[in-house]
Amino acid sequence: MSKRMIGDVAIDQVVELALDPAFAADQLLPDFNDEVVAANRALLSPRYMNADSKLLVMSIHSWIVRSGDNVVLIDTCCGNQKPRPDFPLANMLDVPYLERLEAAGVRAQDVDYVLCTHLHVDHCGWNTQLRNGKWVPTFPNAKYIFSQTEYDQWNPQDPTYPKAGMNPTSGVNAGVFEDSVLPIVEHGLAQMVTGRHAIDRNLSIEPAPGHTFGSIVIKLDSKSDKGLFCGDVMHHPIQVLRPDWNSAFCDVPALARHTRRRVLGYCADEGAVLMPAHFAAPHAVRVQRAGENFTFQPA
Ligand SMILES: [Zn+2]
Repeated sequence: MSKRMIGDVAIDQVVELALDPAFAADQLLPDFNDEVVAANRALLSPRYMNADSKLLVMSIHSWIVRSGDNVVLIDTCCGNQKPRPDFPLANMLDVPYLERLEAAGVRAQDVDYVLCTHLHVDHCGWNTQLRNGKWVPTFPNAKYIFSQTEYDQWNPQDPTYPKAGMNPTSGVNAGVFEDSVLPIVEHGLAQMVTGRHAIDRNLSIEPAPGHTFGSIVIKLDSKSDKGLFCGDVMHHPIQVLRPDWNSAFCDVPALARHTRRRVLGYCADEGAVLMPAHFAAPHAVRVQRAGENFTFQPA
């Protein structure tokens, strides 16, 4: 658990799963080719991938953000005891995630806000836990903030469901809305947001569609230091080097590329620390422009 400061805001992460290996590079990134690894071997290997086997090193983690008096949890990983037959790495987990959260100084009842960058299986699982056969909110005192567009994408009751153009891999999300999202709404803890939305004086939400229809990013701005939590706008640091490479899980490919370039440009030009959901330790990077693309250093 490494604490970092951005302005007055303290940031930790809780790792649910350290994935080494995670996926083969061309399985996650269909456009993958070896030339980028050859040209950036020391930057990528062994921290983020094995340059010889092309197996990626990744992570599934939550960010803990202490902003003023607020304890904010960004993305809640996969969760325990959830049946995910089509996504084996998350199937029926039994991980001491809440114990790790406590080791970072946060009890479940202390969390004030839960922010899900999107509603994929590995970003909202700990929203709920199983108690007496029912899925109930894990963080009973939190306001859970969801993108309305994202909520609509996964809501079987929505008139536009299922959305045209939804990636076939969306099947890995079966059951997630019912066990990890709907119970939050039923307990009255959900707040839907559209467009830009300020959480407090340091944190604000912005739409970042492409990976899913309603993906959001969270910007952090404190004492002229900046950070950005980007969820799955990119999954792996190779996508900083090659921002046109989508993951196999992106719903709107052209928009995903556009948003990725926009986010990377913001981080490079504003000096914002980029904090994605799946980069291997130390989980954050600093971004610079490099010609038409970008490069990075672990941060
Ligand atoms: Zn993810």
